Amino acid sequence: MSQLTIPITSENTGNLALIRRAVTYLKKHAVFIFLTVILAGLGGLLDAVLPFGVKAYLDFVLGKAITLGPITVPAFPIWFIPLFILGFNLIQGTCYYISGILSYKVGQRINIEIKTELYERLLHQDLDFIESSHGGEILNRYYHDPESSCVLFLDYLKQAVMKFFSATSLTVTLFVLSWKMALAAILILGCTFIPISLINKKLKALVNSRLYLTGHSMLQYNESVSGIKLILANNLQNFRLGKLNELMLESFRVGLKQSHLHNFIRPINHTLTGFGVSFVLLYGTYLIHINEFSLASFSAFLASLLLLYSPFKSLSNSTVQLQYSILAMQRVFTLMDLVPKIQNPKNPVSHKVFTDAIEFRNVYFQYKADRPVLEDVSFTVEKGQTVALVGESGSGKTTIAHLLPRFYDVTRGQILMDGHEITRLTLQEIRNNIAIVFQDNPIFRGTLRENLLLGNLTASEEDIHNALEMAYLSDFVRTLPNGLDSKVNERGVNLSGGQRQRLAIARAFLKNSPIVIFDEATSSLDNISESYVQKAMETLMQNRTVIVIAHRLSTIQNADKILVLNQGRVVEEGTHDSLLAKQGAYYNLYRSQDALPLEERETAHAG
Ligand code: ADP
Repeated sequence: MSQLTIPITSENTGNLALIRRAVTYLKKHAVFIFLTVILAGLGGLLDAVLPFGVKAYLDFVLGKAITLGPITVPAFPIWFIPLFILGFNLIQGTCYYISGILSYKVGQRINIEIKTELYERLLHQDLDFIESSHGGEILNRYYHDPESSCVLFLDYLKQAVMKFFSATSLTVTLFVLSWKMALAAILILGCTFIPISLINKKLKALVNSRLYLTGHSMLQYNESVSGIKLILANNLQNFRLGKLNELMLESFRVGLKQSHLHNFIRPINHTLTGFGVSFVLLYGTYLIHINEFSLASFSAFLASLLLLYSPFKSLSNSTVQLQYSILAMQRVFTLMDLVPKIQNPKNPVSHKVFTDAIEFRNVYFQYKADRPVLEDVSFTVEKGQTVALVGESGSGKTTIAHLLPRFYDVTRGQILMDGHEITRLTLQEIRNNIAIVFQDNPIFRGTLRENLLLGNLTASEEDIHNALEMAYLSDFVRTLPNGLDSKVNERGVNLSGGQRQRLAIARAFLKNSPIVIFDEATSSLDNISESYVQKAMETLMQNRTVIVIAHRLSTIQNADKILVLNQGRVVEEGTHDSLLAKQGAYYNLYRSQDALPLEERETAHAG
């Protein structure tokens, strides 16, 4: 099973510390939360109205009628108390309604605040972090957990306050009616807390496992969508189904354990309730018999007790909810505490526009400890020059291209832009100076125009048309019925490989940065598409400083400088002609691609 990689917990994970941190989010909405809680509490308090109403009805309506003998004239009109009960229930219902709406409103506000904060952090996370995390996990952790954290907690808080006030008012009612019976009934009720506190710890571990398994299931969906071609081509549908089934069964098993535990509380609660009510019936009958208790008080007592027991019966649900919210909070705050390694410097040097040269000075780099990828790489790219990086796959070319915009930081050595170490410049200034055309360029859901504007959000219509022209895309756009407003989908499947690359080049034109990096921009294209993309690239290269990574050496022959990389080291440096003449690594690479003209190839082979 693929492993999830985002840490689950940070160091400070005590429940109190978590709740204290959650309070910082709740504080902003203190007034609404206060109102929510007050209304929920008021609703809970009004639970006492019903038993008192029953008692009053029996005392002052039925009771009076009986004591007055044959004349059945009640002290209160018969409808008075039922109307009074109805009125209070209406008020109680309204309290719950408003409190429910307010808690939803505040909960969703907090949800949006947390999600926005997390999304902002995600967008500033290191590439390393994003690339080593799974899409499903990110979705689960960054999108679903906030929903379950403060929102569930707030709902729990509302319910808890409601139940607390309801329990308090009903307990007081019981004591007012008969302290002896109340004491016995409450003691029996108190026993409910013993099994709850015992299973709480076990529940926490199970809830955690289920959240983990949910993350894995999402990962399955994500992988299946991104790898659908592999699945179709290799008939892997049943294999993938089996994997998801396995996960769902595991989640089911954990869920069943959780369900056993939380439903286990129910028979205990019901038995205790049965004990309580039976005791009250017997003891109440005895008290009525010895004239210490009236029938009206007895009925009211019974009504209060039944009302009091019902929230206790649902206590186990609330416990699970609290566990979920606390764990989700823990997971959310862990994400908030993840600090990206690539940061802006504290006191940056301001350097808006690239003017002179890029220098790699004795650069060492490794993605993973003890696995060096670049070793002692040094080279300079003067303004206006085109430098090509060539070498076997895995020799470190893309890594070099990723170090310049600080997608990663060097392990040792320095990268300088116009003499300033790039770690002294702001990320925004560095990246504003560089446009990158990747081998596989992302397309976002939306129109062609929207996708072009990702290069420069403020570009004018004229800029867009110029960029299209220079990227040799105008003819294609003219053939589309909706032109630039045609929809493209996320994976860009309605664009050919060449069109996608030219779209990326058009974006780079719109960005109009002085430095351009082409990272294998034509590698996945056929010859005809490549020739168009090559032409667009050449136009973009004019008057710019260019780093080009190409695996087809025929495309970089005009570069001012060619660096040949081998296992992370620059092994040769020069122009195409000088390197060929040297008959070294470049010459061998070139020969292996059969790029030499026939007669030269023959000489080379003979040599
Ligand atoms: P090239 O562009 O020359 O094909 P790369 O720069 O992509 O080479 O890769 C150089 C080495 O770094 C390879 O061994 C590759 O496996 C490794 N590598 C590349 N990206 C990562 C990454 N994100 N995490 C770990 N290793 C990586």
